[in-house]
Amino acid sequence: MLNLVGSTPLPTEFGDWTYSVFFDDAERKYHTMMIHKRPEDIKSHPEDVLVRVHSSCATSELFHAVNCECREELEEAMKCIQNEGRGILIYLDQEGGGNGIEAKIKAINIAYEWNNNKIMASAKEDMNAYAAYKSMGYPKESRAFGIAAEMLKIAGVRSVRLLTNNPSKIKGLEESGIKTVAVGIHIKPKNEFVAKHLKAKAEELGHNISQEDLEN
Ligand SMILES: [Zn+2]
Repeated sequence: MLNLVGSTPLPTEFGDWTYSVFFDDAERKYHTMMIHKRPEDIKSHPEDVLVRVHSSCATSELFHAVNCECREELEEAMKCIQNEGRGILIYLDQEGGGNGIEAKIKAINIAYEWNNNKIMASAKEDMNAYAAYKSMGYPKESRAFGIAAEMLKIAGVRSVRLLTNNPSKIKGLEESGIKTVAVGIHIKPKNEFVAKHLKAKAEELGHNISQEDLEN
């Protein structure tokens, strides 16, 4: 069950939002909903809301790790919603493709290695984060998006345009009763780690990422 912990206006680099935090007592996790600008804006027009459902990535978002594109995607989504003038960012406490922080650390440890005092991608050509999860017996992705749908329903949302390339996110929201159409979100890879990561997302998880998107 989701309980609202609190809600407040929050000025950001991407405009003025309403920041709300929920506590999921089943999983004992905090999840965030950012509404641009006010909850009333959504309640009065609950159709076709521009939405991003984003899973946390502490390494990238807090520590500026350069082996994935999570921080850029988060910022791009906030900019898109700001430009639109209204919308919602759902930020889920789901590290490591939903497998948890322990699995994530192990996966990065498999996919990267020290080489002459510098970090390199694993020399194994076919190694990537998803192959690493698989090699440890985790599913390639175990994120659950039902919670996001529940939060959207609390905000009064009926249908969304979802900023995603991930077909399982669309399916997850649809199955939870939110009418969803996809709007692509394309981040140019800033280095070869990210290019490899995006390619793996396309190949392993069926993300809608074209060859052109992979060229930096
Ligand atoms: Zn990441």
